[in-house]
Amino acid sequence: MTPDERRTALAEIADEASRCTRCPLSATRTRAVPGEGHPDTEVVFVGEGPGYNEDQQGRPFVGAAGTLLNELLGRIGWRRDEVYITNVVKCRPPGNRDPEPHEVEACAPYLRRQLEVLDPAVVVTLGRHSLQTFRPGARISAVHGTQGPVDPATGARAATQLALYHPAAALRQGSLRETMLADMARLPQALIDSRARRAAAATDPPPAGDPADQPMAATTMELL
Ligand code: URA
Repeated sequence: MTPDERRTALAEIADEASRCTRCPLSATRTRAVPGEGHPDTEVVFVGEGPGYNEDQQGRPFVGAAGTLLNELLGRIGWRRDEVYITNVVKCRPPGNRDPEPHEVEACAPYLRRQLEVLDPAVVVTLGRHSLQTFRPGARISAVHGTQGPVDPATGARAATQLALYHPAAALRQGSLRETMLADMARLPQALIDSRARRAAAATDPPPAGDPADQPMAATTMELL
């Protein structure tokens, strides 16, 4: 898929999600929050679901949890516009309650299609609901900061999952901030390792020729 095709496909998914009526969350949303970010990224962050600010603006992680997420990304030298950020459910559960299993199920095709288009090397799960989608049965307190393979049925064909706490948990419990930072600090190496696995699995040989002919790095993570 070319970068233009990816952009178009992501816009189509976002457009469908913003008109979706597959579950009752559509009746109470102000705006759907399909996701945003770099369409050519190798790293996708998946949160739980929009909160009040996200519902108002139609953008993911724009409230206090988003400010912390941006800060954590900054601490590893990355910017949020270099990654893609989305959620398990695209519409706000009223009162920020947990999404119901039938709501997660109804929304799942949007996340699956986004992952098919983005084909990330790393999926970073934020919190336990996202973790359940990618590592069913795992407990966040036991697996945070660790990697696991991603089931291709999620849409991510060849990705590693890195489990992080949800930033909102660190806002409630200050001691988790350092834990989140330590877990986030594992992301660059997780990306390098996943790239190596993907390259080893690929049948196509790497592009030959003068390195000077290679395209310029567009994002800091390309410099890894
Ligand atoms: N919490 C989430 O899980 N997602 C958002 O987009 C914002 C807060």
